[in-house]
Amino acid sequence: MSGKECFKVLDKIFVPKNVQREEDIKGYTIKYGHIIENGDIIDEVLVSYFKAPKSYTTENMCEINTHGGNVLMKKILDMCLKNGARLAEPGEFTKRAFLNGRIDLMQAESVIDVINSKTEKEAKTSMKQLEGFLSKKIKDIKNKIMDVMVNIEVTIDYPEYDVEEVTKNQIINMLDEVYPELKDLESSFDNGKLLKEGIKTAIIGKPNAGKSSLLNAILKEDRAIVTEFAGTTRDSIEEFVNINGIPIKLIDTAGIREATDEVEKIGINRSKEIAKDADLIIAIFDATKELSKEDLEILDIIKDKKYIILLNKMDLEAVIDENDKHLKDFSKNIIKISALNDWGLDRLYSKISEMFNFSEINFDNEVIITNLRQKNLITKAIEDISKVKEVIKNEMPIDIIAMFIKNILEDLNSITGEEVSEDIINEIFAKFCLGK
Ligand code: GDP
Repeated sequence: MSGKECFKVLDKIFVPKNVQREEDIKGYTIKYGHIIENGDIIDEVLVSYFKAPKSYTTENMCEINTHGGNVLMKKILDMCLKNGARLAEPGEFTKRAFLNGRIDLMQAESVIDVINSKTEKEAKTSMKQLEGFLSKKIKDIKNKIMDVMVNIEVTIDYPEYDVEEVTKNQIINMLDEVYPELKDLESSFDNGKLLKEGIKTAIIGKPNAGKSSLLNAILKEDRAIVTEFAGTTRDSIEEFVNINGIPIKLIDTAGIREATDEVEKIGINRSKEIAKDADLIIAIFDATKELSKEDLEILDIIKDKKYIILLNKMDLEAVIDENDKHLKDFSKNIIKISALNDWGLDRLYSKISEMFNFSEINFDNEVIITNLRQKNLITKAIEDISKVKEVIKNEMPIDIIAMFIKNILEDLNSITGEEVSEDIINEIFAKFCLGK
């Protein structure tokens, strides 16, 4: 429970072994006692006390640790509600932490990301955001702009000093400095998005090449399949796997699994369609057979995408290798495997990691944007910088330039939540689960 009155509500249902007056209880203490209703003991519990402002929400807070179980928890929750508490909205605890100024909007958003993280790398990145690294970066950029704004105000207020040219030069220098910083943040989203959503990966290949064997081998290696959800646009299943910390979203796994007989097996047209929205295509060929017309069509599909070619069934006698005349242009990304024997998968994973720079990203030091709302605002700030450059080039008066610079500041303020509408705040917190 959080809020000024939460200890009063607690008092009505909790009898601690050592009774103390509210003002004598220190924050960060745990009290042992019983939840009691009409003289009956409902549960034996521990209650943690947090006193404003030193709590998650910065308000008075308490947490009841019950033995758990649906019946008990619901009972105690009902007792809290009957005695004056109300159920929190989704994300309301974090929302209060934001509204009370303990964290900014970016940090609040990263709370959801930390909770929903599917790989350790993603959790680490979100945790860094929660700690405020990204916020600090944005704040630094804002400060550079503000410094120049102060000079501009002086120029506007005291036109007789005629320092407009000097100020304009300062503006240009400042823009040249913050522009690449924002660009870096913007491009970090490419990795951030993959980190958060997984590398959308399609396995294609003609019937009997070994697609389902590969799929099974991959799924077997993943020690924690986190989600399995029906795709929204097609009736396909997408599976998220975490392999050596690489988040991979396998698309159309249903298509592979359900293809049991020859007629049903995935045709080239279907492969084309699947390949269209993949970040990575794994094309699998049966190395015991010469490449067929269909295989060549597959090569044609993948040539303009990020791809890895697997020559499968290497436990048998292979008749093709990377020197095959059709494969020569592709030889950099060819890996030999035996899907049936789980052989060569480690090289597949290292290749993916290398292709998506995952091994190069330093998750400890780099600031990575994973949130689309934040990324869009950074893109807007970059566009607004270009507009400022243009009005300067067009010799607009300084007060007009100032107006355009303020747009950049507004974009940055919306990221951290200093200037953001209530609707957007509500939208952000609606994504939270209850009680967070
Ligand atoms: P799909 O039609 O592309 O999904 O291919 P499957 O995974 O169903 O494999 C077709 C046949 O090839 C099956 O009989 C598999 O057991 C066999 N197969 C798949 N991978 C290998 C492999 O690495 N070595 C051998 N010897 N057989 C394989």
